[in-house]
Amino acid sequence: MSKQKTVYLADYLPYSHLVDSVDLTFRLHPTATRVLARLRLRPNPDRKDRDHLRLDGEGLRLISCTLDGQPITPTIDPRSLTIAAHELPHGPFTLETEVEIAPEGNTALEGLYMSNGMYCTQCEAEGFRKITWYPDRPDVMSRFKVRIESDMPVLLSNGNPAGQGPGWAEWDDPWPKPAYLFALVAGDLRAHSAKFVTASGRPVDLNIWVRPGDEDRCAYAMDSLIRAMRWDEQVYGREYDLDVFNIVAVDDFNMGAMENKGLNIFNSRYVLASPETATDDDYARIEAIIAHEYFHNWTGNRITCRDWFQLCLKEGLTVFRDHQFSGDMRSAAVRRIEDVVTLRSRQFREDDGPLAHPVRPESFVEINNFYTATVYEKGAEVIGMLKSLVGDQAYKRALDLYFDRHDGDAATIEDWLKVFEDVTGRDLSQFKLWYTEAGTPRLKVTDDWKDGVYTLTFTQANPPTPGQPEKHPKVIPIKIGLLNPNGDEVVPTIMLEMTRTRQSFRFDGLAAKPVPSILRGFSAPVVLERKAPAEERAFLLAHDTDPFNKWEAGRALAKEVLADMVLKAAPVSANWMDAVAAVTFDETLDPAFRALCLRLPGEDDIAQTIHGMGRIPDPAKIHAARREMAGALAIRLGDGLSRLYKDLDDNAPFSPSSAQAGRRALKIAALGLLSRRDRGKLASSAFARARSMTEEIGALAALLDVQQGQGELVTFAARWGRDANVMDKWYALQVAYADPAEAHSVAERLISTPGFDWKNPNRFRAVIGALAANHAGFHHRSGGGYRTVADWLLKLDPLNPQTAARVSTAFETWPRYDAARRKRARAELERMLATPGLSGDLQEMVERMLAAGN
Ligand SMILES: [Zn+2]
Repeated sequence: MSKQKTVYLADYLPYSHLVDSVDLTFRLHPTATRVLARLRLRPNPDRKDRDHLRLDGEGLRLISCTLDGQPITPTIDPRSLTIAAHELPHGPFTLETEVEIAPEGNTALEGLYMSNGMYCTQCEAEGFRKITWYPDRPDVMSRFKVRIESDMPVLLSNGNPAGQGPGWAEWDDPWPKPAYLFALVAGDLRAHSAKFVTASGRPVDLNIWVRPGDEDRCAYAMDSLIRAMRWDEQVYGREYDLDVFNIVAVDDFNMGAMENKGLNIFNSRYVLASPETATDDDYARIEAIIAHEYFHNWTGNRITCRDWFQLCLKEGLTVFRDHQFSGDMRSAAVRRIEDVVTLRSRQFREDDGPLAHPVRPESFVEINNFYTATVYEKGAEVIGMLKSLVGDQAYKRALDLYFDRHDGDAATIEDWLKVFEDVTGRDLSQFKLWYTEAGTPRLKVTDDWKDGVYTLTFTQANPPTPGQPEKHPKVIPIKIGLLNPNGDEVVPTIMLEMTRTRQSFRFDGLAAKPVPSILRGFSAPVVLERKAPAEERAFLLAHDTDPFNKWEAGRALAKEVLADMVLKAAPVSANWMDAVAAVTFDETLDPAFRALCLRLPGEDDIAQTIHGMGRIPDPAKIHAARREMAGALAIRLGDGLSRLYKDLDDNAPFSPSSAQAGRRALKIAALGLLSRRDRGKLASSAFARARSMTEEIGALAALLDVQQGQGELVTFAARWGRDANVMDKWYALQVAYADPAEAHSVAERLISTPGFDWKNPNRFRAVIGALAANHAGFHHRSGGGYRTVADWLLKLDPLNPQTAARVSTAFETWPRYDAARRKRARAELERMLATPGLSGDLQEMVERMLAAGN
């Protein structure tokens, strides 16, 4: 086990030197790639001391090193190359190194590696040090020129093309950038191309590069890109700044995608789409991720982060921007609900357990472990709150100032907040706590009606998190509306600004006691604790004018009913079923919204709710209660459900539009419930008639959910066996719908089939990630779920520590369960920690998760 160093935000020092330019030459070879780097350096005038030069590098074989043309022998250790201060000139100098690396043997997928015969790179956060010696930190920005020598037909790097010939190509990036935004691709690729003209008239060549044969599955990604480029001009006034914009789809990729300057690299599942192979969710995700990476060109690339503690500066803002974009492209209400579902299932869960950390952490061991829901999703929520607090106009002015003031900078959260302070004159020091303190605030609310005055009293509690026992009250924007008992809105949406631990707000001039609609649009990432009678929730589900809170009322009611079923063996509430029936059959509502209302809370979400009530969740009981609830609802919805399904089952030609996707979502939700009544008969014929992947997967899931569909699984595999992205769904579904007692053996069986490439991160996640997400299966009392996940994490870790560490968060909720389960989970975590040669990535995660159980 290697003992790794902890890095602290407080220790930040500017780098000793400035890098004025970088010239890189790559002579590509699978096992012996040569990288020549010429760096023009000079001492950093911001540093008073005269320091040595220390460059990062890992796994590099040094061939030669010269300083101003003279060979030198630097000091080399496994992580760095150092030249002593007395050997360095006082002014500018040129350092040239040549190293050899072996991309073919790079299974970690960081640095330069190979995927299906093509060369590609992933440098964020610290992958560039696996390519050449360099100050691999985001505040060192430089101009890069790149020459690639290879017999591959397509040779790409950042910036604009600067020349090419047989076996070589040159690229020149005019925009200074940190090394983490470097990219190189070489392969036998085909382009799906289009043209774009920016608002100021700059023509841009757009290319999406894929393997031969996949060109016809890029149209939606290209369409999304063009819409994102136009949207960023119109909404943020940001134009693209190079002559070309390239996207490359890669099969082996640790993450979703990467925003390298002018050359985005994508996990192929977020590029390729056709009606036959992509679900509506895939289309929506492609649109969002294409936009996200493109938006980084300004929020991330032109203005980057000073250090990795500031990761939320680019990610929180860019996620916020992609949410805005998706909301504008699709139904904003439906998008908001889906974003909050994700936030709760991933970020609230993280905030509630051993891995809780602030949006801007103060320290880390391995930065790869901080690409988290907190940095991304909560980081975006914090910006949403800021926008609510200052208002849309001030937000726009602050952003203009941010782009103006910091273009070309490596900035900090302090810089970001300062532009808002300068534009509005507000003091944001209390607001900054959202960046520095972890944990989800819990907001209690009570109301009072006396002498015609209605009073809402809020109390906020900020629970302790690892390393942060004491918390301060936060600024919480609480959007509310008030409804009359007859359903009319008497106070339309207003924002209450809470700054103290306990605060009351009065409303005069009301004729009757109103029904409050609190936290409209989910205006702050908090847990709202309000004891409301079921009738009030049902009333809001029927009458609230705020679509988020309308949905939220049904969701809160469903969670209460489920908690009562689990904890008190209560029956399924008729109130809840009546309320859901009313929404389901309300033709005036958006079908996508009705589909969301039919979706029951996930089992992990119910466990989180029960844990929040101070009780110990029982995964088996939760699983049984949720099934019972779905079964009862299917019966309650009666014949109307079959009619609804028939009405939606039309023959309209396929379109990925959100309107059609919404109808399909409602149709599939109805099919899932109908299957509980007919044991999958209708789903079986729906599978046979399916005209899109959404329908095919929806029908298959409905069948598996009622223990049918074995024949359909065979048919599906025969049809799609050669398409890896489609087959990932096939694997994941079988584990997701497996009986809890058997889930781990289903996963084991699938993974050990010959030809199963578990080294591919998508495939690994499809099975092990699905097992972790099968709540009752992963937490089965036998301990089989824990054991299988731990076994495979240990197997993957030596090859790909980054993915192993991320999937290990499956264990992050272990302290919330009963003693017997905790004992089993702890044993697996301790077994991992005791394994010789465990990576620093996985070691840090396991240690943090274990620390919480003490
Ligand atoms: Zn991003």
